[in-house]
Amino acid sequence: MLHGSVKVGDAEIFALCDIAGNFPTGLREAFPDVPEEEWPRFRDRYPDAFTDETTWLVHDHCYLLRTPDRTILVDTGIGPLGSSVPGIRRSKGLPAGLEEAGVKPEDVDTVVFTHLHFDHIGWNTPQDPTKPFFEKAMHVVHSADWDVFSELDDPLNRNAFERNIRPLEPAGVLELIGGPLELLPGVSVVPAPGHTLGHMVVSVTSGDDQVLLSGDLVNHPAQLAEPTWREIGDMDVGATADSRRRIFGEGGRRTVYAPAHFQEPFGHVEKEGARYVWSPVA
Ligand SMILES: [Zn+2]
Ligand SMILES: [Zn+2]
Repeated sequence: MLHGSVKVGDAEIFALCDIAGNFPTGLREAFPDVPEEEWPRFRDRYPDAFTDETTWLVHDHCYLLRTPDRTILVDTGIGPLGSSVPGIRRSKGLPAGLEEAGVKPEDVDTVVFTHLHFDHIGWNTPQDPTKPFFEKAMHVVHSADWDVFSELDDPLNRNAFERNIRPLEPAGVLELIGGPLELLPGVSVVPAPGHTLGHMVVSVTSGDDQVLLSGDLVNHPAQLAEPTWREIGDMDVGATADSRRRIFGEGGRRTVYAPAHFQEPFGHVEKEGARYVWSPVA
């Protein structure tokens, strides 16, 4: 479903919610570094990011960027797998959101993956692995993630890679990159490693305005308080903290962040004392 949009220059960025529901492990397993006594304050501040005292209410957002002549999709959600996950609140999915935005799959010219976790690559080949859903799009993947995920032991992510990413190569729609890539003037894919080794963000700028599609740089607003607080999916905790410090340090007051898993798809990251806090765009 469509979750609102923001404009920057002549681009409009739509948030498309693939699913929202309870994260399968408890809050403390998902974010093991957050001290127990901190949670009540975060629950007061960000009530919509919790189902109850011990459960993270997680969204899975994809972002669609439209300009007069480009249609770019960032991440493709959990896909059909989402309908088998217990506790899911909404499951209209990415295809319904695209329809609401007036976009057909064949209109998409570029798909960018912030990283290759199973919940970001789900709608690539929903029916037949030889037939990409976004058939006319080049699919941009960081080569570090391609290398790691093609040899991963973890069955959930490995199976998703083999089913949804590997077939893009023989289909002729895969573009592996090893560093930054400018998609069009003002729109660039930028490495922000840590959550995965090939994790990337997408920066959209026009004059002083910036929207940063930040993928899984941070997954819960509570993590903004301390850059070293990991989420269980983070592959390299030190590199993740470095990427967070760099990106939040570089961002201006006007920068709008669009994280994949927050309850609100767009917001500012503001300094409050020594800590950052999340302030959603109304
Ligand atoms: Zn959502
Ligand atoms: Zn992830």
